Amino acid sequence: MFQNHAAVAWGNEGHTYINRVAAEKISADMPQFLREAAGEIAYLGPEPDRWRSPSEFALKNAQEPDHFIDLERVSWLDPLPRGRYEFLRKLYEKRAATTDHPDDYLPERVGLQPYITMEVYGRLKSALREYRQLRAAFKPTDDVQQAIIFYAGWLGHYVADASQPLHTTIQYNGWVGPNPNGYTTEHHIHGQFESDYVRANITARDFAPLVKAPERLNDPFADYIAYLKSSNSLVENVYRLEKAGGFTGKGTPAAFEFTTRRLAAGSQMLLNLWYTAWLDSALPVPEHSPARPAAPPPTTIAPPK
Ligand SMILES: [Zn+2]
Repeated sequence: MFQNHAAVAWGNEGHTYINRVAAEKISADMPQFLREAAGEIAYLGPEPDRWRSPSEFALKNAQEPDHFIDLERVSWLDPLPRGRYEFLRKLYEKRAATTDHPDDYLPERVGLQPYITMEVYGRLKSALREYRQLRAAFKPTDDVQQAIIFYAGWLGHYVADASQPLHTTIQYNGWVGPNPNGYTTEHHIHGQFESDYVRANITARDFAPLVKAPERLNDPFADYIAYLKSSNSLVENVYRLEKAGGFTGKGTPAAFEFTTRRLAAGSQMLLNLWYTAWLDSALPVPEHSPARPAAPPPTTIAPPK
């Protein structure tokens, strides 16, 4: 069953569109080289899906759980820990205490999606801080700009995955368990929705107007978890639409409306994360950074180990 999770969320087109639309909405108070890199950022949307080849086994094996999280399997863990290793420890403790299908709590089955997202977000914010320092010192920024563009595009992949409700659930590809509404149990809904339907019926222009100006996030991790949960709350909508033929052929208006809103939600969260990384990269950091004078660290940032 784990193998089925290897489905590529949003397919090549959806990922490319989500990144491109977010890049084109970059506001005037953000670095304009990012907006000018919209083509490269769009190209990077599907990048982690290019890391699934068996010819690079270690990469494929390590990164596949980054694309999803089965939120139903961690409903007992609230709030989710903020660090990857605390999350892993909690899952292994749960597994050890479970007799019925304990392997359902293996991290690679539960998924690590919010952790990779916040890790790439951290890389982006760190690179933006370097960019600010180089600019302040009147030094060239071309090299760090390349890093920033890569991190921004890479981040977009996971943020987009999370707007696809079937990347947040045990119901990722065919209904399992009690099924009073008679949803499909066939293993086709995932790819039909995110790849076939989108490729045939939707373009970036269809959802770009739904994406608004960026907003600063107060707590990127907590806000991202709320975004994942909101996506998870829409899992049954996907199944209802499928049952009504919404994703077959040209689909239905309801399916178009639903799908464009999910794609827009992905672009919006990506844009908000870029914006927040940019603004927060100006905050003082703990004094371990040799490039910074000693300054009181914000209490929300843990000191380095
Ligand atoms: Zn993915």
